[in-house]
Amino acid sequence: MGNRIIFGKPDIKKEDIQSAVDVLRSGWIGMGAVTEALERAFVKFTGARYAAAVTSGSSGLFLSMLASGIGKGDEVITSPMTFPATASEVIHTGARVRFVDVDSTGNIDAAKIERAVTRKTKAILPIHLHGRPCDMSAVMSLARKHGLMVIEDAAHAFGATYRGKSIGNIGDATVFSLYATKNITAAEGGVVTTSNKKIADRIRLLRSYGITKTAWSRFGKKNNKMPYDTLIPGYNFEIPDLLSAIALSQMKGYARKSARRKLIWDRYNRHFQQLPIGLPPLYSEGNHGMHLYAISVDREKTGMDRETVRRRLNAMGIGTGIHFVSLHLHSYFRDTYGLKPGDFPNALRISRQTLSLPLASGMTEHEVNRVIQSVKRIFNG
Ligand SMILES: *Cc1c(COP(=O)(O)O)cnc(C)c1O
Repeated sequence: MGNRIIFGKPDIKKEDIQSAVDVLRSGWIGMGAVTEALERAFVKFTGARYAAAVTSGSSGLFLSMLASGIGKGDEVITSPMTFPATASEVIHTGARVRFVDVDSTGNIDAAKIERAVTRKTKAILPIHLHGRPCDMSAVMSLARKHGLMVIEDAAHAFGATYRGKSIGNIGDATVFSLYATKNITAAEGGVVTTSNKKIADRIRLLRSYGITKTAWSRFGKKNNKMPYDTLIPGYNFEIPDLLSAIALSQMKGYARKSARRKLIWDRYNRHFQQLPIGLPPLYSEGNHGMHLYAISVDREKTGMDRETVRRRLNAMGIGTGIHFVSLHLHSYFRDTYGLKPGDFPNALRISRQTLSLPLASGMTEHEVNRVIQSVKRIFNG
């Protein structure tokens, strides 16, 4: 059967390792010039005017909302089919989460957003689930109509495009994650892109303790009486150059990674077409980010529930993931907002049926074939 196929295995090449070693040997491993280079690379890649690198996608979401003026008494509209951080970061700002159900793609149902808007609503926070961009045209026009900010959770959507624009260059701020399993990774890290200078400046200030000078510029200059000033009580969400170097190197190899993902994605589609399972819905507005390849297991059609399939693949040495169990089924959100399973019927159904198969640019041909053969064996009966 061979070795286990790890779900979400990072694609680390010798150039990535070398770039980390170079930083370790350089005499400066904290946030500095390499992080600035990473930010410039994100500006170039997305087309947004500014980019600010931070310690994680989560801290990027938090700072984007703070920088947009979101806080106590405000409401943020998002969908529950996401990782807990999306909603938890809203709560950390002091605001309240307003969930709106997803459509059959797993993305926020734009047609249901308007009825969730209240006088307190400040922002819409769409998630590009699995790398599939949301209906941004509808989201943006609703936001403009009601004077709301749009902050995108693009943790899955590095490399995705929508109607000729890169994800990262549409909403008021877009948050990418560099976590271990994402399309490109630094183990941990995040980047916010925006074309709003006020938001970019505010994020940079909050990220670096709320003080006027970064360590990088502080230590480079001659000492005077007051080397820096505290403008607001900020945070330490500075990403070290050690990690930025890995992310930057990962970005340089992205064309190859993306081509490899597409090849695997298309092969899965071709081989699974005849099986009684749901496949990722077609995306025709640009490039899908292809972060996660999720099948849908409907007990009525397969005679098996998702957990059985997951267990059987696991026994065959194939790791899988669930993205996600809807947040309205998690204790905190259920209890805090008094939510019932049936409140978001599409999110509920997807929570029960979705199963993410291994999809990583570092997968070998042999591994891809093993996934295909194993899935076929389960569903061909
Ligand atoms: C990974 C992820 C995050 C959080 O990113 P971190 O870098 O791990 O903090 C947020 N939202 C979604 C949808 C994610 O998948």
